[in-house]
Amino acid sequence: MSTFSAYDFRNQKALIRVDFNVPLNDKFEITDDTRMRAAIPTIKKILNDGGSVILMSHLGRPKDGPTDKYSLKHLIPHLSELLGGARVFFADDCIGEQAWLTAGMLRAGEVMLLENLRFYKEEEKGNEEFAAKLARLGDVWVNDAFGTAHRAHASTAVIAKFFPAEKRLFGLLMEGEVTSAEKVLHASEKPFVAIIGGAKVSDKILIIENLLERATDIIIGGGMAYTFIRARGGKIGNSLCEEDRLQTALDILKLAKEKNVSIHLPEDSVIADKFDANANTAVTPSDAIPDGWMGLDIGPKAEGIFSEVIRKSKTILWNGPMGVFEMEKFQKGTKAIAVAIAEATQAGSFSLVGGGDSVSAVNQFGFADKVSYVSTGGGAMLEYFEGKVLPGIAAVQS
Ligand code: AMP
Repeated sequence: MSTFSAYDFRNQKALIRVDFNVPLNDKFEITDDTRMRAAIPTIKKILNDGGSVILMSHLGRPKDGPTDKYSLKHLIPHLSELLGGARVFFADDCIGEQAWLTAGMLRAGEVMLLENLRFYKEEEKGNEEFAAKLARLGDVWVNDAFGTAHRAHASTAVIAKFFPAEKRLFGLLMEGEVTSAEKVLHASEKPFVAIIGGAKVSDKILIIENLLERATDIIIGGGMAYTFIRARGGKIGNSLCEEDRLQTALDILKLAKEKNVSIHLPEDSVIADKFDANANTAVTPSDAIPDGWMGLDIGPKAEGIFSEVIRKSKTILWNGPMGVFEMEKFQKGTKAIAVAIAEATQAGSFSLVGGGDSVSAVNQFGFADKVSYVSTGGGAMLEYFEGKVLPGIAAVQS
């Protein structure tokens, strides 16, 4: 496998799978361009080398072929702006003659964007013929779409077989994601704490099981903590609880003991009399929540204990909020965790925030540049931490 930085793209047409699946409003304005910005360093390096760039991506979930709503043409003006005003050529079909001719005419330093890959069902089906047609457009394939790395689609994985090993590369974004995840999973300096939160135990079982093999401490917060607390015999009122996961929770606690991993559950909780931003609130032990009340955030004691564990850790992984951080009354716990991680990072620890809502939380609270790495791929990062092989990564490495 070649490395992206060492590769000389001069006179090469680089076919880059990017993740430009950005949210658009009804006027087709991009409401969050994070994913586009994340791909710019990769594009610039290729252009600066004297290569040309062909970008391919999906956008949304089009059901029945081409639709204006999901056209990538809406992204052209902003892409051009992000590239310093460069002209962006567009092919309104990702395969076929127009794409082939436009790609053929691209000169060094030029950029072309292909229409939505998912206008073809073949993309998600991982159809080989479709992948071969895409592959014809470029001399070298660069995978920079971490957000879809867990999918074995035509453009994210199947296409790899049409390029020799030295012409299959991770882009800079992908390289950053893979290096950070590997650092946490395989070379973690101890103590290693994993902070797992969010709503459901069922979503996080595999990740917890995998981390039991690696972490020294696991902090469990958010709605999922109450299934554990109830499984241990606690009284959790109306808090979230997955009745069918009580045994799983007990099994995890037992396994942790056997493996000498400390599991930390919130000693106290901020409770509310309804699921509402204006609910009445109180603080109680997490295992003594009155009927009719529910735990919506970790309490001050839990904040203190969790922060202490985080501050003494050398490797930190965070996935999932400690409470309903979307409501101001229940965001203190999540904020306290972000502060502790920022302090530990400042003191030299490595911290990775990955997967969905904890990423939104660090962005919302302004902590993104105070942690070592913020992952861009929700589902992909989750599967990575579950110990799965991601097709988009394996395709480049094999
Ligand atoms: P997840 O997508 O599983 O990471 O869960 C994130 C969601 O869990 C967020 O929308 C939070 O509001 C929600 N959440 C966190 N803590 C709680 C809680 N104690 N009760 C209900 N929902 C929660």
